[in-house]
Amino acid sequence: MTAGSERATPTTRVGFDRLSLYGEHVAACSTDLSDNTNLWGTPPAAQRVLGNVSAVGVSRYPSAYTSDLKTAISTYVGVEPAMIATGCGSDNILDSAIRAFGNSGGTLACCDPTFTMIPVFAQLNGLTTTLCRFGDDGDIPVDELLSSRAEIIYICSPNNPTGASASVDGIETVASSFGGLVIIDQAYAEYSSVSLTPLVVRHPNVLIARTMSKVFGMAGLRIGYGIGNPGIIREIEKSRGPYMVGATAQAAASAALAEDLPWISNVVAETLANRSRLMAELVTLGYAPLRSDANFVLIPVAEEPQVTRRLLDNGVGVRSFSHLAGIGGAIRVTIGPWQMMQQFLDILGPSGK
Ligand code: PMP
Repeated sequence: MTAGSERATPTTRVGFDRLSLYGEHVAACSTDLSDNTNLWGTPPAAQRVLGNVSAVGVSRYPSAYTSDLKTAISTYVGVEPAMIATGCGSDNILDSAIRAFGNSGGTLACCDPTFTMIPVFAQLNGLTTTLCRFGDDGDIPVDELLSSRAEIIYICSPNNPTGASASVDGIETVASSFGGLVIIDQAYAEYSSVSLTPLVVRHPNVLIARTMSKVFGMAGLRIGYGIGNPGIIREIEKSRGPYMVGATAQAAASAALAEDLPWISNVVAETLANRSRLMAELVTLGYAPLRSDANFVLIPVAEEPQVTRRLLDNGVGVRSFSHLAGIGGAIRVTIGPWQMMQQFLDILGPSGK
């Protein structure tokens, strides 16, 4: 008999049973192009810290709100340390912000398709999500977002999974016309030419969420951050709670920000070159990849389950989507060193359309 099998499990909060665990999207494979991480690896100074963990001193708690790391991030993005909150990945920043600024029973508005965790974080915090379709020009639907009567507006730029940036004018109009919190998710900021950080200085209702999981090559250490008005930051830190970033992660991230920026710039340059080359090759093969400002490309593919299976059977993992709004079936491919891109192209072959 299984332990406790005769007794019912406790009842969860109302609505909690509609949530499910995050699915592993790709099975183990030799070339994983599915999660938009840095396929060149982890930068050298961060690696040096990780190779000498005993020097970090993990027998004590880390800085509760990561004071040294906040200073390093503030220098990197060009704002005061009081305008930075860190978290266990930017997931933790997004969740904490929604919890701090969204009332249970309220609504969050975002575009569709966008980062899949957003409706989950909304639901976890008792909010429902209103999905707005992108405009025909691919930009954010400013009027629709503003008329949604939401408490929080979420904009992802560059957007995951489509890759396009929102227009700065559109974001600025939303920020200045909306009374609630505007979250701008810039997980892929380093790959786009536009810096949105000045917006947080002009608009006290804007929070920018960023991460060290992507170009900084530290997804396994779980470090994200928010940039915003000190008043917003304080509420997010209350919602987040202390000690959410481990001592080793704090030390590795600080070292990377101090010493690894030239390495990061090289990776960005190579990513952008490989992205252009991949786009051109895809067009030659008969595909119509979406324009991207990030380190991934979305490729509409009608027969997406078969294509994804064929890639995986040959050792290449991609993220597949079956019913994206306005797009349909598609695969999302992370840009990496060219040898990986060539392997992907060789298996993908010409479009069957
Ligand atoms: N925002 C976007 C748009 C993402 O794509 C991701 C990860 N895929 C995240 C946030 C969360 O990243 P992390 O928690 O690793 O910082």
